Amino acid sequence: METHKLVIIGSGPAGYTAAMYAARAKLSPLLFEGFMSGPAGGQLMTTTEVENYPGFPEGILGPQLMVHFRAQSERFGTKILTEDVESIDFSKRPFLIQGNATKAQAHAVIIATGATAKRLEIAGAGEGEFWQKGVTACAVCDGAAPIFRNKPLFVIGGGDSAVEEAIFLTKYASRVYIVHRRHEFRASKIMAERAMKHPKIEVIWDSVIEKISGDQVVRKVFLKQLKTGKTEEREAGGVFFAIGHQPNTGFLNGQLPLSETGYILVKAGTTYTNVEGVFAAGDVQDHVYRQAVTAAGSGCMAALDAERWLSSKEIE
Ligand code: NAP
Repeated sequence: METHKLVIIGSGPAGYTAAMYAARAKLSPLLFEGFMSGPAGGQLMTTTEVENYPGFPEGILGPQLMVHFRAQSERFGTKILTEDVESIDFSKRPFLIQGNATKAQAHAVIIATGATAKRLEIAGAGEGEFWQKGVTACAVCDGAAPIFRNKPLFVIGGGDSAVEEAIFLTKYASRVYIVHRRHEFRASKIMAERAMKHPKIEVIWDSVIEKISGDQVVRKVFLKQLKTGKTEEREAGGVFFAIGHQPNTGFLNGQLPLSETGYILVKAGTTYTNVEGVFAAGDVQDHVYRQAVTAAGSGCMAALDAERWLSSKEIE
């Protein structure tokens, strides 16, 4: 079994950027990019056009952007394994990392396993149905696509994300409906007020979408009012899940402290976790910004933090 100075787990913008910086710092990082846990490359692999990543004035397809990230990390000597990490042991040093096929040891570890947008198992919303054909879990990533222009759009959720995404979608939609299962927003007061006052937004309280239908793209949603049991169908151009994200931390088996909502806690303004030599970057530790560019930025921070920590321990 090889012992590495640095192992990086995760392959979105945070993981690949951390790898690029670490490789350039001659740390010869080993990166587990994932396999069955989700597409290597992370959430951008499931989006289409990315128009807000700096440096691409014409926009770039999410998967293509991740091909660039990966190639840039490899160019400087990152060794990439297309495996999931099944478990990790922080109780001994060097840390022990068990991948699907490879066992490795590492003096320092960067965790950049991201978060997965939660999805609902509604009839019509699955892969092979209308998923990515009008049903998505990221308005900011997908909302500007032509299929959503001037159409009634439905956002499911009652938190800040739902409100924020609904407001974002008003730029493109004919009208935006927030479908919430209760009669009270979970969102902050100020955000909730913004939604309530917005002329293009209507909230459908105490309701769920039971079914989504269409042809090539979404055309209709079937709503159910939970209090009365009444159902109705409405014309729809898109459905956006905004019911929260789940950070991907299961393999840590409780070895790092997490926030109430499951995000890895880091020391403010850094990527240090409370285990020395373990750093966290990207969406797995960020419930606020959650953008490709902020994830990449924190990946860079994690590599710099890890490099300095290794050098302070004279692990060169
Ligand atoms: P959240 O606060 O957990 O809200 C999730 C919403 O989805 C809740 O309203 C919940 O309903 C609903 N929901 C969950 N599971 C559902 C299901 N199975 N069916 C139907 N509805 C379901 O998640 P979030 O909105 O993504 O926010 C996460 C964190 O990020 C929060 O701390 C938030 O303040 C923060 N955030 C901040 C901003 C901002 O300040 N600009 C923007 C986005 C997010 P219930 O209310 O009934 O539980």
